[in-house]
Formats: sequence, C-alpha cells, structure tokens
Amino acid sequence: MDLKSLIRDIPDFPKPGILFRDVTTLLSDPEGLRYTIDFLAQKCSEIEIQVDYIIGMESRGFIFGAPVAYKLGAGFVPVRKKGKLPAAVHAIEYQLEYGTDTLEVHQDALQPGSKVLIVDDLIATGGTASATAKLVQKIDCELVGFGFIIELRDLQGRKNLPDVPIISLVEY
Ligand code: 5GP
Repeated sequence: MDLKSLIRDIPDFPKPGILFRDVTTLLSDPEGLRYTIDFLAQKCSEIEIQVDYIIGMESRGFIFGAPVAYKLGAGFVPVRKKGKLPAAVHAIEYQLEYGTDTLEVHQDALQPGSKVLIVDDLIATGGTASATAKLVQKIDCELVGFGFIIELRDLQGRKNLPDVPIISLVEY
C-alpha cells in the first residue's frame, strides 16, 4: 500500500518554512490504518520475539503504540508532557530548537529488566525519541528498538539514538 498517498503535507505548519506531515488522513482511512498497524507490528516483532512493553510518546505515539502493543501481546506505557501523569514520575528534560521540554513516565510503570520498544508517529531530529530512550534507561529496562511510521531522513535523527534497530515505514 502507498502510505505516502494517505499522508497529507501541510506547508508552513506550525511555523513558516516547516512542511508538516499530517497523519490524520492516514488514521481516518480504514485500510490505511489497519495496514499501518499490521506492518509496524510485523516489523517490530522481527526485532524481538517477546517485547514486554511498548512506550509511546504524547500524543501520536499513543495512537500507533497502543494497537502495536495489543498485537504483540505487550503492555503499553505512555510517556507524557510534564505534569500530566498522576503518580510519581521519572522526568527527562530535553532540548528543543528554542528552549527545553520535559517528558515523564510513571516510576512504577515498567518492571526493571523488561524489554521495551519505543513507538512514535515520526522521527525528525530524534530529540523526543532520544529523551524517551533516556527514560527507559532511568527505569533500568532494556531498550530493544524504535518503531516510527515516518522518518525525515535529512534531519538525521537516527544519529541521535542509541545503537538498537530503528524501523520506519515511510521516508521523506
Ligand atoms: P523530533 O523530536 O524527532 O525532532 O520530532 C519528533 C516529534 O515531533 C514526534 O513526537 C512527532 O510527533 C512530532 N513531529 C515533528 N514534526 C512532525 C511532522 O511533520 N508531522 C508529525 N505528524 N509529527 C511531527
């Protein structure tokens, strides 16, 4: 299936000069959605036979990560922006183009020693995924790989990630 034909390009969003890859058009297409989840889950299962948890980042990582976890028989753990999770958290601050942001995960969400795969809709600079990988380290889990729907190759985000398998279904 031609996933690119279901991903909409929005020029100048959220700022002038940025070409935003909009996955809402992919999500609303029944066949496109099913194919994307099945394909990502298949590729993730090739990395590791038994993944214990999928970690997905707010907010599009939730949409793709949870059904992949379901298909792999894994748990799903949300990583959220600062202040959204109700119980005790581990936090990691990371650099944005201007300023910083903080991601958090519940301290007791994962059993130490578990095998974890990080899923998000898109990798650009790799800042978000790399910060999430550091959270996985903080909770003493084993990161087995990353799964993305889209990879923006020019930004070379994978250079900022640890040395584990990185899956992307579509490249620009
Ligand atoms: P990075 O941290 O790799 O620079 O940016 C990736 C994060 O920003 C992801 O969580 C992703 O959801 C979001 N993001 C950045 N650019 C885009 C885009 O063009 N389309 C979509 N759907 N998400 C983007």
